[in-house]
Amino acid sequence: MQRKISVIGTGYVGLTTGVCLAYLGHKVICVDKDKNKIQRLQKGIVPIYEPGLDEILKKHRKNLEFTTNTKDAVQKSEVIFIAVGTPSQKDGDIDMTYFRQAIREIAKILDSYKIIVNKSTVPVGTGEWTKKEIKKHYKGGFSIVSNPEFLREGSAIKDFLEPDRIVIGVEDEKAKEIMLDIFSSIKAPKIITDIKSAEMIKYAANAFLATKISFINEIANLCEKAGADVKKVAEGIGLDKRIGPKFLNAGIGYGGSCFPKDVDGLNKIAEQKKYNFHLLKAVSLVNKNQQKKFLHKIKNTLKKIDGKTVCIWGLAFKPNTDDVRKSPAIEIIKGLQRSDYKIQVYDPVATENAKKELPKKNIKFCKTSFEAAKNADVLALVTEWPEFSELNMKKVKKLMRHSYFLDGRNQLEPEEMKKLGFYYEGIGRK
Ligand code: NAD
Repeated sequence: MQRKISVIGTGYVGLTTGVCLAYLGHKVICVDKDKNKIQRLQKGIVPIYEPGLDEILKKHRKNLEFTTNTKDAVQKSEVIFIAVGTPSQKDGDIDMTYFRQAIREIAKILDSYKIIVNKSTVPVGTGEWTKKEIKKHYKGGFSIVSNPEFLREGSAIKDFLEPDRIVIGVEDEKAKEIMLDIFSSIKAPKIITDIKSAEMIKYAANAFLATKISFINEIANLCEKAGADVKKVAEGIGLDKRIGPKFLNAGIGYGGSCFPKDVDGLNKIAEQKKYNFHLLKAVSLVNKNQQKKFLHKIKNTLKKIDGKTVCIWGLAFKPNTDDVRKSPAIEIIKGLQRSDYKIQVYDPVATENAKKELPKKNIKFCKTSFEAAKNADVLALVTEWPEFSELNMKKVKKLMRHSYFLDGRNQLEPEEMKKLGFYYEGIGRK
């Protein structure tokens, strides 16, 4: 059945949710406070880089509305999804300002039964807080649902429409039935649970994936010392079905808007519950050290050859996105800028976002991989964009002043690179 839905917050998650719900046949109003974003969307311009989003938005435009008017959207809808940002504070705690604002706004508008579905990643207990807060302003009936989102930027549409599972934390039958109806055409296991468990599932999932990454990075560091090859080790353990091959790529650590903040967030949740989560603290520490180690590797190589110019390939926190939030590239570049090196950077789509994050000092944003490599002493591959595997490396080598190639993502083959005459170093490889 076609449902009338509002999505509050039209960022990576909100826009994907809105567009995919329209694709599923629902009438969706996407709301954002950012006027510029909404104006662009009204003109059909997608403000983020997400493969496939553009096409599906155009195709299902008749089911979609974009507005800054929360009141109008909420009053026209029976289900309200919340997808506002919940960033980290300086101390790692979760900043709930946007979420609380959104709930207070909605609470003051409510005039009939609605289901308020939370997609933002929020501390366990937020559902309870939400209920109390709404009751302060509205005396009628409403339901609260926790429906955490597991999509990955770069494959958001597929992840939303073909998820491994849909988690629905719910307290009453009516809301449960409507939620199941909304997602009825998605063939995936639906986990029905209480709200607190649903909130915890999201943190536990991200913390587990981050743990896998930090674990393989520690193995890589040990491989470097022991003379083993982490790629083979990962293959050897990943084929064990109890382990699985995913998230076993050693590199310079995880970044992005979710893993660092959710690991820190869960650590804070544990701290507030007076539980010492030893393992998760180590996961975060290992990740930070992995980035620092790579920065030192670049600086030491430059010192060794008296080099001044570094080429950085990749700015996004991972391929297929323009998102540079908590991208290892940004931290590494800032570290190099503090040491006065000349930095030449290239990314296929994330340059404009990176410009907003990086100081202007000693940095040149290049239009091609080749331009960035020209006259470089050291080339550091930071984001594994597929196009880097297709490049003419002979040409790259010719363009560089010194041919030191530091592969932070183990994207290229050491033997092939060495044959071409590069001094090549991956992470945890022989
Ligand atoms: P985002 O920053 O891209 O988007 C949030 C949007 O909400 C912004 O456009 C902002 O202007 C808008 N907003 C804030 N307050 C508002 C209000 N009161 N009314 C209307 N609009 C408002 O954030 P995101 O990456 O989409 O993440 C949203 C949530 O989903 C976070 O909790 C995040 O942890 C979680 N999440 C993100 C991802 C991801 O890959 N980005 C994946 C799963 C879950």
